[in-house]
Amino acid sequence: MKVLFVASESDPFIKTGGLGDVAGALPKYLNKMGLDVRVVIPKYKNIKPEFRDKLNFIKWFMVPVGWRNQYCGIFDYEIEGVKYYFIDNEQYFLRDALYGHFDDGERFAYFDRAVLNMLKEIDWKPDIIHCNDWQTAMIPVLYKLQYQQDPFYHNIKTIYSIHNMLFQGNYNPEVLEDLFGLSDENYRNGALELYGAASFMKGGISFSDKVSTVSNTYALEIQTSQYGEKLEGLLRSRNQDLVGIINGIDYKAYDPEKDELIYKNYGSDSIDDKKENKTSLQKDLGLPIKADTPMIGLVSRLTSQKGMDLITYIIDRVLQQDVQIVILGTGDRAYEEYFKYLEARHRNKISANIKFDDSLAHKIYAASDIFLMPSLFEPCGLGQLIALRYGAIPLVRETGGLKDTVRPYNHYTGAGNGFSFSNYNGDEFLSVLQMALNYYRDKEVWNSLILQAMTSDNSWEKSANSYKELYSALKK
Ligand code: ADP
Repeated sequence: MKVLFVASESDPFIKTGGLGDVAGALPKYLNKMGLDVRVVIPKYKNIKPEFRDKLNFIKWFMVPVGWRNQYCGIFDYEIEGVKYYFIDNEQYFLRDALYGHFDDGERFAYFDRAVLNMLKEIDWKPDIIHCNDWQTAMIPVLYKLQYQQDPFYHNIKTIYSIHNMLFQGNYNPEVLEDLFGLSDENYRNGALELYGAASFMKGGISFSDKVSTVSNTYALEIQTSQYGEKLEGLLRSRNQDLVGIINGIDYKAYDPEKDELIYKNYGSDSIDDKKENKTSLQKDLGLPIKADTPMIGLVSRLTSQKGMDLITYIIDRVLQQDVQIVILGTGDRAYEEYFKYLEARHRNKISANIKFDDSLAHKIYAASDIFLMPSLFEPCGLGQLIALRYGAIPLVRETGGLKDTVRPYNHYTGAGNGFSFSNYNGDEFLSVLQMALNYYRDKEVWNSLILQAMTSDNSWEKSANSYKELYSALKK
């Protein structure tokens, strides 16, 4: 089975978030299972230099973008058995930031058509085109309205995967004709219209053969007005074609037994060695070296989606106890400054690291006893999966992928790999954190929690199998 995986970013070339992780990992695992999955992304300015200079030029052709006619170069590169294609156009992609430009609509309108036209140029016809997020959402629309009649393109199926409902690609309706040459019938009949805008994401959901998102719970949540971002009605109408498949994490990149970024390696049979990671990090961050003081970790974008309002609501009261809090993140200025202010006030208890630092992230996962993720919404979430792997017990709000991967500790049966609370409510959050801190003092309970966390299976193999089933169902 041949699958073209289309994304706006991919690890290890360039990545800003979870989508990049998925595009970097999933195709690798699917290919190992015998599929022929290839990936296509834009050729951005900031693709890591070690790859950028090695990409092979294949050919070029022109791509129409409404009335414009634009250059399109195709490059390729193979890594761990996966072929990656790169779409080159310097006007659109030779820029520092991946997203957030005034002409993002035009940039990805171009990309979507370039991807479809590329197939004929390289003469490779996939059985399935797997699109991701709003940047690639117009591919199923273009395919159904403009390509499928062409014999070369006959009988290709499309899947649209949602990694976050918040980012939809909504533009002035004029872009449909201007960028895609689509008549305004598709706007007037509602297929692309969303509250007065033309919505790329709505197009992807309406026109693809299957829709997926990155956890079962999020697949249910987005059919409600609380999480659906105004598309809940459409998602409900497509619920027979909507599935949730949880992301995995790369078990090689996140392996406490072999991780070279942490102070001391440990495994589920040597959890006592985890302590050394805590005391070494305390030393590096200038915190008092106290092996028995619970360390609470937070590695996250500092935004309201990640539950920062709940954290700021409780943190003063938490700091009155014998704890240490280690924060790593960047995001909204107000949260960054508040954490820096708290650090200045409580030098012995909190370390606020306002930066992006992968090496420090690994050290925090290895050192922490408790890992906080009280998100307002969370399509899948990787932080809690990494925390589980390192035996940092996750404390999460029961939403999206957090609910599907963290099982709250049950005092009577001893089952569970973390702690959770249901409502987006600071007092509820605080009382569960208090409970976790109490259990931390009970070494028997805590060690069994660590074991159950570290042996939870969140590998990619499991998820790749579910995608394979989804592809197979479409091929029938
Ligand atoms: P999202 O993609 O919504 O930001 P996820 O939990 O899915 O959230 O993924 C976040 C990933 O980014 C995790 O691997 C986390 O460790 C990492 N991360 C977040 N902030 C930082 C930071 N400041 N420095 C290093 N890694 C970070």
